[in-house]
Amino acid sequence: MDKKRLDYYKKKLVARREDLLRGIARTEQEGREADEDPTVDLADKAANSYTKEFLFGQTHNDRSMLQLVDDALDRIKENCFGECISCHEELQQKRLEAVPWTPYCIACQEKMEQGLL
Ligand SMILES: [Zn+2]
Repeated sequence: MDKKRLDYYKKKLVARREDLLRGIARTEQEGREADEDPTVDLADKAANSYTKEFLFGQTHNDRSMLQLVDDALDRIKENCFGECISCHEELQQKRLEAVPWTPYCIACQEKMEQGLL
C-alpha cells in the first residue's frame, strides 16, 4: 500500500480511537454519577442497575472496538496493514474504507463468524 493511502487510513483510525476513548470516559462518568446520586429511591435504583448494565455493555463494546483499532494501528507500524492476518491476502479497498480496523478479509471473517477459524 502506498504511503498516502496508509496515512489516510491511519488518520481515520486515530480519529476513531479518539472517539472511542471519549465515549468510554463519558459512559464511565455516567455510571459513577448514577452510583453517587443520593436522591434515588428504590424504583430508581432498579432502573439504575439496568442503566448501569446497559452502560457496562456499551463500554464493553467500545473497548472491544478500541482493541481492534489499536491492533490496526500496530499493523500500520509493522508495515502489514491492509492484508488479512489469517490468509495474508490483500484486503479490498472498499472493505478498508468501510471498516479500516478489520483484521480479516471477507472470506476469513465469514469463517470466523461460523467458528471455523
Ligand atoms: Zn483472509
